[in-house]
Amino acid sequence: MKAELITIGDELLIGQTVDTNASWIGEQLNQLGIDVSQISSIRDDRQHILDSLELTSSRSQLVILTGGLGPTNDDITKKTLCEYFNSTLILNEDVLEKITAYFQSRDLEMLEVNKDQAMLPNNCAILDNSRGTASGMWFEKNEVIVISLPGVPYEMKGIFSDVIIPKLKEKNLVSNVLNKTIKTQGIGESFLAEIIKDWEHELIENGLKLAYLPSPGIVKLRITAFGNRENELRNLIEKYVLKLLALIPDYIYGYDKDKLEQVVGELLSKKNASLSLAESCTGGNLAHMITSVSGSSSYFKGSIVAYSNTVKTDFLSVDSQLLIKHGAVSKQVVEQMAIGANLRFGTDYSIATSGVAGPNGGTEDKPVGTVWIAIAADEKVYSKKLTLGDNRERNILISSLSALNLLRLKLLE
Ligand code: AMP
Ligand code: MG
Repeated sequence: MKAELITIGDELLIGQTVDTNASWIGEQLNQLGIDVSQISSIRDDRQHILDSLELTSSRSQLVILTGGLGPTNDDITKKTLCEYFNSTLILNEDVLEKITAYFQSRDLEMLEVNKDQAMLPNNCAILDNSRGTASGMWFEKNEVIVISLPGVPYEMKGIFSDVIIPKLKEKNLVSNVLNKTIKTQGIGESFLAEIIKDWEHELIENGLKLAYLPSPGIVKLRITAFGNRENELRNLIEKYVLKLLALIPDYIYGYDKDKLEQVVGELLSKKNASLSLAESCTGGNLAHMITSVSGSSSYFKGSIVAYSNTVKTDFLSVDSQLLIKHGAVSKQVVEQMAIGANLRFGTDYSIATSGVAGPNGGTEDKPVGTVWIAIAADEKVYSKKLTLGDNRERNILISSLSALNLLRLKLLE
């Protein structure tokens, strides 16, 4: 079943209100197995509303509108729907009673415009609004369902959850949707797509859907399956997850709600191992991420934010000659920082970071975005160079995530 959303309101088009209704309803419909094919935002304008109704009804089986149901003159959705569906407005006694009670309970005077909200079309189902005074409306014409809801998100959500979902289920218009999200770190979206293209092709041939969801340092892959044979679909998804794991084992750090810092914490706990940090360019962000996991005190000892060279030499025993020869952003220095942190804290593992976070401070041989990360484990040390962009915040985040993933791989060896 194809659905479309129309969000109505001048405030949406001038950037005054962010259209959260569309994203919320989109998510709900997706979970119900209903495909949303288009979302449009339009002004409180009769002709635009009529044109949108005409167009969406010609190509979709479900059209949901929000907004324009308030009692003021600028809200014209109800009267325009009446024009479109040839309705007449009649007084709905039940709704009037509820509106009256609503005002009484708040000790407010009821105005004529509020009473008008009980005047509702004669040829639709009225959807009870338990959170406000504007009722929802459910029209059906030529096999197309058109639902109109108030714009206030709190009221819209109430009607959607309490009335619309049960009604869609009752009419057998929903199906099961299973989602599985696979989380990767350390590979860009287009490189990932190239590596997994045969896998993706086979997955789609088997009726599954794939979405790439990139954010700084992380690309999530969401597999979706629709249908009513839940166990079969679950097994099918699992089969493809295992195939993907064999294809890109180093990049996958978790699934669904997993966080990289939490996955690393679990691996450390399992090994009964401790962790310390020596952070230069990440400036404490790694420590923040690690300590945001409840229970991290059992493996995390502490961090030295070694921003200046003297802190690197005095607290982490970095050789000052190395700093002069190679500079702070170098393989040699970051490796010594990691070894120094392990010695200083008496830990089994340590992570060190040093880089040019930007947007200023780059040189020809070390441009902005040059970052070195190192992991020290027992006697051994591993390091890796990252070449990132010039956005400071992103660089700090991506460096932190890359360092955590490098540690994860070492913990798995
Ligand atoms: P209305 O039903 O048009 O009177 O909308 C009432 C209020 O709901 C508006 O003033 C907005 O603040 C809010 N609103 C309307 N449409 C949306 C939307 N699509 N997303 C988020 N908020 C909205
Ligand atoms: Mg409005």
